[in-house]
Amino acid sequence: MAAFKERVFSGVQPTGNLHLGNYLGAISRFVPLQEKYDCIYCVVDMHAITMPPSVWGGPQELKRQIREVTAAFLAAGIDPKRHIVFNQSQVSEHAELAWIFNCVARIGWLNRMTQFKEKAGKDRENASVGLYAYPTLMAADILVYRATHVPVGEDQKQHLELTRDVAQKFNNDFAESIAACGFGDAFFPLAEPLIQGPAMRIMSLRDGTKKMSKSDPSDYSRINLTDDADTIAQKIRKAKTDPEPLPSEEKGLEGRPEADNLVGIFAALKGVPRAEVLREFGGGQFSVFKAALIDLAVDHLGPLGAEMKRLVGDPAYIDSVLSDGADRARAIARPVMDAVKDITGFVRRG
Ligand code: ATP
Ligand code: MG
Repeated sequence: MAAFKERVFSGVQPTGNLHLGNYLGAISRFVPLQEKYDCIYCVVDMHAITMPPSVWGGPQELKRQIREVTAAFLAAGIDPKRHIVFNQSQVSEHAELAWIFNCVARIGWLNRMTQFKEKAGKDRENASVGLYAYPTLMAADILVYRATHVPVGEDQKQHLELTRDVAQKFNNDFAESIAACGFGDAFFPLAEPLIQGPAMRIMSLRDGTKKMSKSDPSDYSRINLTDDADTIAQKIRKAKTDPEPLPSEEKGLEGRPEADNLVGIFAALKGVPRAEVLREFGGGQFSVFKAALIDLAVDHLGPLGAEMKRLVGDPAYIDSVLSDGADRARAIARPVMDAVKDITGFVRRG
């Protein structure tokens, strides 16, 4: 396999309120990668419109949320000068490559995607074609930069596997042309997930078997990054638990999804293993543990939320970050797309 330049790509949808799951599972993990890799962090607004406007709130709300996700990236410590921060719709190569991938991916592959089944719900006939094809656009997001590493939460693992399948099939289907165009034995890398550590899947505060999600209708199911201290405290106090005290060992969390989730959140926020949390709080009542969790969450999210609000108050600055990032992203994506056209056999102006 050809050697590829190491590059990180990841995206967050501007749909609804960013929550603790997005932060612990994705955004906070983007930050340290900046030391080791060239990183591209994208607000994937074209993914947002795969659900009906009534879900994401319509055009004004979409604009607001694109800027809010950008603010979260910056507030978390992503450096838009050393790396690239932009919104997907400003770089049309994503959509262009997605079409080619729609012709590479098989219907059977997409039929297996659990996110589609969950988001389409019972009325599948009424889901958008875009929601169904979401994973091929995600593959294009990653591969239009020939990115090699993708930090995502555990819920996106299946889509990343599909991205690898698309890359592999394109490399196989066009093997001769790839070699003839001077790209050796593979044009696209097989991007690897960067999913590690505790709390890769933060669950809903109301139901420990469902993931915390922007699109959950109940605001009590999640802690939003912009929630104030009182709201955070109230949500954690109301979070579902069970009547047993906390166990002293991890094995005791089995079959107790809500307890497991709260311990996982504590561990991730504090940056320690679950076992250490249980050594401290095992045998005690939830009320004591919850009080400590409230302090920890408020300490973490307070400054982040305040910085996000400050940045959102300056939309001209946010927009300038996005357009500068889009220019630099396009400088990478355009030559890749031109090469894909040559490999595929499209005639293009030189
Ligand atoms: P939606 O419900 O609209 O799909 P979402 O909350 O799943 O929203 P996305 O924008 O789809 O958010 O995902 C952004 C990133 O956050 C992805 O890397 C995803 O894996 C991660 N993520 C989302 N939810 C969780 C969660 N509950 N726990 C850990 N990571 C998560
Ligand atoms: Mg999602």
